Amino acid sequence: MNSISPDRYARQRQFAPIGVQGQDRIERAEIAILGCGALGTVAAELLCRAGVGQIRIIDRDVVEWTNLQRQSLFDGEDARLGVSKAEAACRRLRQINDQVQTTAVVTDINAGNIEAVLAGAELVIDATDNFGVRFLLNDWALSTGTAWVHGGCVGASGQVRLFDGAARPCFRCLVPNLPPAGVVDTCDTAGVIGPATHTIASLQAAETLKWISGNRQAVSEDVLSIDLWNNRVRQVKLDRAIAPECIACVRRDFEFLRGDALGSSEGALCGRDAVQLNPHGDNVQIDLQAMARRWEAIGSVQSTRFFTRLQVDETTQLTLFRDGRVVVQGTDDLARARSLFDRFVGN
Ligand SMILES: [Zn+2]
Repeated sequence: MNSISPDRYARQRQFAPIGVQGQDRIERAEIAILGCGALGTVAAELLCRAGVGQIRIIDRDVVEWTNLQRQSLFDGEDARLGVSKAEAACRRLRQINDQVQTTAVVTDINAGNIEAVLAGAELVIDATDNFGVRFLLNDWALSTGTAWVHGGCVGASGQVRLFDGAARPCFRCLVPNLPPAGVVDTCDTAGVIGPATHTIASLQAAETLKWISGNRQAVSEDVLSIDLWNNRVRQVKLDRAIAPECIACVRRDFEFLRGDALGSSEGALCGRDAVQLNPHGDNVQIDLQAMARRWEAIGSVQSTRFFTRLQVDETTQLTLFRDGRVVVQGTDDLARARSLFDRFVGN
């Protein structure tokens, strides 16, 4: 059992920039963590131990064995039972510190539910694995004036920056368009090491503590970029006017929040135990050969001029078509299909 002890946060109060006042603010803060994988679990644990008042964890997936090498809140029992990540994480967080109010939200975040799912959060941690959700989060943050902390990590490298929901540049100033399918590495195609995700999540937690404890001047204006394998640490300076016509922060045209920026012909394919996704909308051309090369390292691949197909496991297949559509065979659950897409195709 936990007990309410005045000593629990003593070292944090002794840290001068936080002090008694900063700790009080931390204990009143309400944050959301979007995604409960390698970044989400580590950031959640650090911020739970730090005493953040309320932590909401949003994730659509269940714990799998491949998660355990880096996702610190889960264990073999969670993977064996295939429990929901958000619920398993909250259960563990309550054991760590029951003074923190934790809420698990098991859902696939989208334009239709983001306002309800994130309502009341004063800061959101981006621990997702895809650009579509980041664009949606960027739109929501600008429309509500809410801060969010971007983090991304693949292989041994990653980057972090807090976007405050008001000042320029916004995330879309830096990444104007969704990368085409198969161009960006994902942890499922290129692998990832635990020290890298722990580092990136720690940097996200540090930026969060600065923001919610009233030390906003200490937040980094640069993108912090780290490559642990090649021993490189960089601070990338950003030009505020990098994208003078930015659709999101200049024109305030929140196309992802409106829900009409992504493809529409999505959904379960009747009677086929399959789901079709169209995450890039129309008018895209996918480099199928590049995707096939990535997939060859992880499973059996079949390629034709029109599609590339990956056998993920005995019952699951991903078929990527040249026009960007993906058919996920082996499920009729849209959230599960999107999860597989983000892991094995990525954007
Ligand atoms: Zn912008």
